[in-house]
Amino acid sequence: MEIRFSQEDEAFRREVADWLDANLSGEFAVVRGRGGPGDDAALIPERRAWEQHLGAAGWTCVGWPRQHGGRGLSFAQQMIFHEEYARAGGPGRLGHIGEGLIGPTLIKYGSDAQKQRFLPKILAGEELWCQGYSEPNAGSDLANVQTRAERVDGEWAIQGQKVWTSGAAWSDWCFVLCRTDPEARSKHRGISYLLVPMDQPEIEVRPILQLTGDSEFSEVFFNGARTAGKNIVGEVNQGWSVAMGTLAFERGASTLGQQMQFQNELDEIIELAQANGKARDPLIRQRIADAWIGLRLQRYNALRLLAVGENDELPREASIYKIFWATWHRELGKLAMDVLGPESEILEDRPYVLNRLQRMYLFTRADTIYAGSNEIQKNIISERGLGLPREPR
Ligand SMILES: Cc1cc2nc3c(=O)[nH]c(=O)nc-3n(C[C@H](O)[C@H](O)[C@H](O)COP(=O)(O)OP(=O)(O)OC[C@H]3O[C@@H](n4cnc5c(N)ncnc54)[C@H](O)[C@@H]3O)c2cc1C
Repeated sequence: MEIRFSQEDEAFRREVADWLDANLSGEFAVVRGRGGPGDDAALIPERRAWEQHLGAAGWTCVGWPRQHGGRGLSFAQQMIFHEEYARAGGPGRLGHIGEGLIGPTLIKYGSDAQKQRFLPKILAGEELWCQGYSEPNAGSDLANVQTRAERVDGEWAIQGQKVWTSGAAWSDWCFVLCRTDPEARSKHRGISYLLVPMDQPEIEVRPILQLTGDSEFSEVFFNGARTAGKNIVGEVNQGWSVAMGTLAFERGASTLGQQMQFQNELDEIIELAQANGKARDPLIRQRIADAWIGLRLQRYNALRLLAVGENDELPREASIYKIFWATWHRELGKLAMDVLGPESEILEDRPYVLNRLQRMYLFTRADTIYAGSNEIQKNIISERGLGLPREPR
């Protein structure tokens, strides 16, 4: 597939670039280039204000349909937006999970009342979301979720624990997979998809310290937490198909923006290699060229994925793309450390201050785990894509 930018697209590119240049200044100059991988917990109040500033100018949710408040941008224009956002040093988007995961899920599966209640707040950058899927015994085997929800006085009462919940410490809402029928014949049945407000004493968030020195994710304990009876997406006990719909968004269009971030990282590595002479090392040169080729392949893979569209059933392309970018990015982290050389082992400052490339390297260790590990993607490709026998269970 080839993507061509029309004159109209190029005019749009200038509009985006001008707006970002003019607005990532003054009070928002501080967020420029912050909040990327391994720096996710930085400057939360300032980045929250930035989300609202973006929202007020109509620059959130640019790919959502117009009828739901988005800009309804074409693929080409969405790419342009993300390219310019990365080029201008736009900060890591705190609203990513709302914009990329739960918003599209509500558009597809939510009731009209849910759309009216939640979408405008996501668009305005006023409510941040987190994803309550994984548990200590339900990661790859997600259908094993044990967090229970029961109807009590017309509300849902929730008891259990989630883990690795990105952004839980600063989110307003969480979409939580709960078991609502423990007697169901199959473990994929009997699960419901609930929308739960985070600001209540019955929810305890315990941040987890990560290798990067950051606490991007947390353990979340639900000790009889409540949400209104109407805050369920889809039917009671039928949450699995909604959950898979969200995963299709997670592994699909929402990753478009990160490629532009990868381009910035590769540019930084090339600049460093030229400055410190590593660019003359033939093996480093080959790895840089390979990284560049890999990035181009990702771009075409993403476009192919977008062209396939988003279905409840994850397309094969989503698994191919996830495994490819995650493995590529992990290798890029190693390349960055080899270009830094012995300096890669020295902290920027005490007690534990890392430079951008060190943080990036450490965070890339997680890429082949979250949103479905490499091993799980390989299972999906072999079973659903190639028709090989199912793994023994
Ligand atoms: C940075 C980061 C952010 C995250 N954010 C969130 C979040 O916001 N919300 C959320 O709900 N979760 C989040 N997660 C959790 C993530 O989805 C899980 O870590 C992931 O699904 C793997 O589950 P697990 O950690 O329980 O590992 P396990 O499922 O226990 O897997 C352990 C190892 O066994 C392998 N394995 C497991 N089953 C199989 C199999 N059938 N065949 C072959 N190999 C197998 C895995 O590939 C892995 O290598 C995040 C994780 C990370 C690292």
